[in-house]
Amino acid sequence: MTERLPKPRPGILDIEAYVPGESRLPSGVTPAKLSSNETPLGASPKAIAAYTAAATALERYPDGQATALRNAIAKRYGLDVTRIVCGAGSDELLSLIANAYLGPGDEAIYTEHGFLVYRIAILANGATPVVAPERDLATDVDAILARVTDRTRVVFLANPNNPTGTYIPIGEVRRLRAGLSEDILLVLDGAYAEYVRRNDYEAGLELVATTNNTVMTRTFSKIHGLAALRIGWAYCPEAVADVLNRIRGPFNLSSPAIAAGAAAIEDGAHMEAAIRHNETWLPWLERELTQLGLRVTPSVANFLLIHFPRQAGRTARDADAYLKSKGIILRAVASYGLGDCLRMTIGTEEENRRVVAALADFVEE
Ligand SMILES: *Cc1c(COP(=O)(O)O)cnc(C)c1O
Repeated sequence: MTERLPKPRPGILDIEAYVPGESRLPSGVTPAKLSSNETPLGASPKAIAAYTAAATALERYPDGQATALRNAIAKRYGLDVTRIVCGAGSDELLSLIANAYLGPGDEAIYTEHGFLVYRIAILANGATPVVAPERDLATDVDAILARVTDRTRVVFLANPNNPTGTYIPIGEVRRLRAGLSEDILLVLDGAYAEYVRRNDYEAGLELVATTNNTVMTRTFSKIHGLAALRIGWAYCPEAVADVLNRIRGPFNLSSPAIAAGAAAIEDGAHMEAAIRHNETWLPWLERELTQLGLRVTPSVANFLLIHFPRQAGRTARDADAYLKSKGIILRAVASYGLGDCLRMTIGTEEENRRVVAALADFVEE
């Protein structure tokens, strides 16, 4: 007798479950955890206070419109509040977009070393992932355009990209939009937008405001230091906001998340401090690591991609093991097709110095 068991939809079992950055070491020592691009400054004290205050009404359902949070975001960036949709992390928003716009027979494009959540969201909806090669570890607009077919429904673009840390100028993003037909949704993932200090960079707000087929997603997990609370938002064309609001969970953000997120985005000083910290330590690390003879991909985000040689004893895997033995966790990125690299989040001053000292020892040995 053949066993008859519940079967998931085609595509689901092709998904390799997302493996988060490691956070524990076998020895039990408190590690320097530089594996998930979290901020070394922690959350704003105002966000923590708002979170704590929300503990007095946990029996109540949250505001299903996340009004306080959406208003705070709209005010901060001068946006139309009706076009802001919040999610339990931007991961949820990426999934909702895929749920709404992708199905079997459809194709969605992302780049060679693009964020792996896109692939998962595409496959989960029975659609076909199409990978566009990058040039020098950066998005290649022409390569994306060359992979468009009449089945293409969505293009996912992280700008800056994780795990490479590279970006493309807004002019290139506009060229991409202009080259895609109007029925293709362009999703601009700006998870690291706040960190970028480049005159030719924009996260895409204006593009969203002036087209009806571009969405920008943002997160509170990175610069705002609220990864544990799961808060993201999307700025959408009216019709897309309407679609996402129809399919999202009616209470997809918790009250503590709404309160803490609103307080965080109002605390501009805390954000500025995080940007300044990054401006100090990102170039310092680039310089120090390069002086050790390691190649580093120039980054505009709060992390760095470090390249290791293929020589036995000197590889990325060897470095990873060595650093772990010293209580330091970076991110192995072989699942992103970057087996010769480790990704390092910019940490506290002490953590950054620790990594450089440990890698100096590793390189010398
Ligand atoms: C970290 C990250 C996110 C954020 O995910 P959340 O679900 O909001 O925590 C989104 N996109 C990219 C590229 C990221 O690196």
